[in-house]
Amino acid sequence: MNKFTLLLIFAALLFSCDKEDNPAPQPYIPGEQPTANLPAYPAHRQNNYPIVLVHGMCGWGRDEMNGFYYWGGKGDIQTYLNTQGYTTYTASMGPLSSNWDRAVELYYNIVGGVVDYGAVHAMRHGHNRYGESYPGFYPKWSAANKVHFIGHSMGGPTPRLLIELLENGDEQEKAYIPGPHEAPTSDLFKGGKNNWAASHTTVSGVHDGALPADFVDFRDNIKKMLIGMGAMGGIVLEENAIYNFDLGQWGLQRQENESPKAYMERVFGKTAADEGSAARFWQSQDNCVYDLSVKASQMQNYWAKSSRNVYYASYSFNDMTEQSDGTWTPSDNMNPLLKPDGAGIGKTTLDLPLGYNKWRPCDGLVSVPSGQYPIGHDYILTDTIHRKLAPKGVWDVHPVIQGQDHISIITPDNKQSTTNWLNKFYLKIAKDLSCLPN
Ligand SMILES: [Zn+2]
Repeated sequence: MNKFTLLLIFAALLFSCDKEDNPAPQPYIPGEQPTANLPAYPAHRQNNYPIVLVHGMCGWGRDEMNGFYYWGGKGDIQTYLNTQGYTTYTASMGPLSSNWDRAVELYYNIVGGVVDYGAVHAMRHGHNRYGESYPGFYPKWSAANKVHFIGHSMGGPTPRLLIELLENGDEQEKAYIPGPHEAPTSDLFKGGKNNWAASHTTVSGVHDGALPADFVDFRDNIKKMLIGMGAMGGIVLEENAIYNFDLGQWGLQRQENESPKAYMERVFGKTAADEGSAARFWQSQDNCVYDLSVKASQMQNYWAKSSRNVYYASYSFNDMTEQSDGTWTPSDNMNPLLKPDGAGIGKTTLDLPLGYNKWRPCDGLVSVPSGQYPIGHDYILTDTIHRKLAPKGVWDVHPVIQGQDHISIITPDNKQSTTNWLNKFYLKIAKDLSCLPN
């Protein structure tokens, strides 16, 4: 018996003597985690990492929609946070694109360069490998210069997929051998970029799917929602909007002299003029409708884990009222654009993880459980009085906020939210993020 083995036996004996005084730690079970031994949430600023706002489906950048901002409407959450000492940028990704394409675009939004969707991905889905060119709003992004993500709606899963690519890359893209005239594989798909994201906070994030994506006619609903969101800013989307669908990889970029209406009709596949590009896009498994389905979300949650290098937090919303028969109906104040989908969600009987009853309360688009955390990943329920710091990789799930819908939480409707209320809501998040330790 060597010295090392003896030492092990001695240590084991010591441990067994101590056992009665110190009960063995609870075994790790995935899902909700105990909070008793967690440290208090830090009260003081510990970092100056910039915040990146990541929009959801139907979203747009600051240079689109004629000055009506996705983040704040006629208000301006980015500028407000900047004036309060929290450096903030707004990313702009494909409003109808898949999480993969949006994650890749988010990367190039930040670092700059021509979007490379990956040779294997592009071949599999039948679109161009390369997309738009971005100047990059934070080209020094690295493990030393991290960022915080705040994502709304599909901006929930998009950064999580990007973090997965940054850290682990993609096996198929890594294995691809470029031809003699092809560019080498993008650095993004090679992995090894641990710790580039300090945190990721979701506001009504679609972690587990949005039920309307599983309903029929979701494409038409998206179009109506987009037109309606423009109308909130006094913009007639089909006539005078500056709006980019960011679908050049599918051959769906706006043509010279093409009117906004004709462009929109072509993208939504309502005209034969697109020569099949729109049909290929919508029939693929590489668009927002597919990726927002419950099934696709489950697969993404399996693939894109919550990283043990990143702090996560979530805010979910309920703008529905429970009825005596157990169904839920939209509140009077819910945005009319959301009420039809809200009504459908409120009486769902679909076979859903955690049971359909839990999915009926929603913000008109995203059900409460989907807004809370990716099912199967670790989380804690936030104690708002004795606030604890959730470990990295564990979602800090804030209490459900009542009386806000999926749009009022980004754009004031002056019924449920105002510019002032939204500014304060996002300022509180920015303060929380600045208090996170390394
Ligand atoms: Zn794609």
